[in-house]
Amino acid sequence: MPIQICDYTLCTACSACVNICPQQCVEMQAGELGHLYPYINKDKCVECNACMKVCPNNSPVVLKQPITAFAGWHTVDVEYQSSTSGGAATAFAQTIISEGGVVYGCACLDKIDIRHIRVDNFQDLNKLKGSKYVQSTMSENFKSVKSDLKAGLKVLFIGTPCQIAGLKSFLHGQPDNLYLVDLICHGVPSVKLLQEHVKNVLGHQKVTNISFRSDSYLLLLLLCGDKILYKSNLMQRYEDEYYNAFIDGYSYRESCYRCPYAQSKRVSDVTIGDFWGLGDDFGIEHPHGCSCILPITEKGLNLIKRSDMILYERTVGEAVQGNDQLRAPKAKDKKINRFRKLYPILGLKYAYRITVARELLFKLRCRLMLGTRLRKIIKFGKRE
Ligand SMILES: Cc1cc2nc3c(=O)[nH]c(=O)nc-3n(C[C@H](O)[C@H](O)[C@H](O)COP(=O)(O)OP(=O)(O)OC[C@H]3O[C@@H](n4cnc5c(N)ncnc54)[C@H](O)[C@@H]3O)c2cc1C
Repeated sequence: MPIQICDYTLCTACSACVNICPQQCVEMQAGELGHLYPYINKDKCVECNACMKVCPNNSPVVLKQPITAFAGWHTVDVEYQSSTSGGAATAFAQTIISEGGVVYGCACLDKIDIRHIRVDNFQDLNKLKGSKYVQSTMSENFKSVKSDLKAGLKVLFIGTPCQIAGLKSFLHGQPDNLYLVDLICHGVPSVKLLQEHVKNVLGHQKVTNISFRSDSYLLLLLLCGDKILYKSNLMQRYEDEYYNAFIDGYSYRESCYRCPYAQSKRVSDVTIGDFWGLGDDFGIEHPHGCSCILPITEKGLNLIKRSDMILYERTVGEAVQGNDQLRAPKAKDKKINRFRKLYPILGLKYAYRITVARELLFKLRCRLMLGTRLRKIIKFGKRE
């Protein structure tokens, strides 16, 4: 049965409750739109309330304004090109590994299993590279972070702001050897939804890797080894159900629509994202994207400065102006509500297509009209 650890609509699946439970009786199960929610095994529960006490929704963590803002990218071209924005996450991770520490971040494992993993070497950092536009499963990583910290290791944890809040709550604060980097985040679909989409477009073909971005372009690539099995393109608007539902905010977890971290005050040492809306005065080419880097603490600023990044100082106001999620969470509208009502009955493909039926019809009419015109031009040209 679902438990009232916190208000169901606020639960972010940070998994602090799973990690803290002394009886190991809290487990995550799929709920609305395939999102994970904590369920408790009442037979094993000793009613210690540790899960309720650790939940960041019950005792919110302190948020702080950024010190300043940087636009920037990795100094090494190959790292810059293979990262999502400017490769800030990769640069910070390399710094911590080179200092003998470990890094926790999100990887895409076999069978489209998107989850946080622990990395302790340069080569495996490649697994973390790239945004996975889906909620990363946390499992028992917080316990592992705790034991690394206890062993005196430097630990860098990279994740969404709600995951950072969960970890801070679980640790009752932040020891000196823990570095926290959060992503600007506009919301997460569930892994189950992504798996459903992959099955819809590829049947049972084996997928070994997924990519969600190419430079600044939003596209979904499904690969088996180096072979591209499927490629969506957002230029083909409304045609890839998963990506478009994500971009338009139809498929987020319920808590994303009331996210307390979608604002300029932040939860970590450094916030990173895309530097959308850089002013015209910037004038420096950045063909493979640009990171927005917001140091929140002195410790974060120090991590930025000792990492391999080309940096340009900008203002926090400019960063906030260009990025909706540094101001407020995504607001629900009629279409979002419609999709969420249709999904349990029809599944992703048809729930999405019905939700955007008008837009799809309009596209079809444009194509037909264009086709007729082209045919006329060709005919006319032939007659002449
Ligand atoms: C779901 C989601 C929504 C986002 N929304 C926005 C937005 O609205 N505006 C914006 O400016 N930026 C957004 N971002 C952040 C942006 O896409 C880049 O991830 C960020 O700029 C880091 O890029 P990079 O080049 O520094 O990272 P890279 O060097 O490419 O490394 C990517 C890092 O992101 C982490 N990561 C990847 N996927 C996930 C995930 N699902 N959950 C937790 N951590 C993950 C990895 O651990 C890795 O450390 C979002 C990211 C995600 C995952």
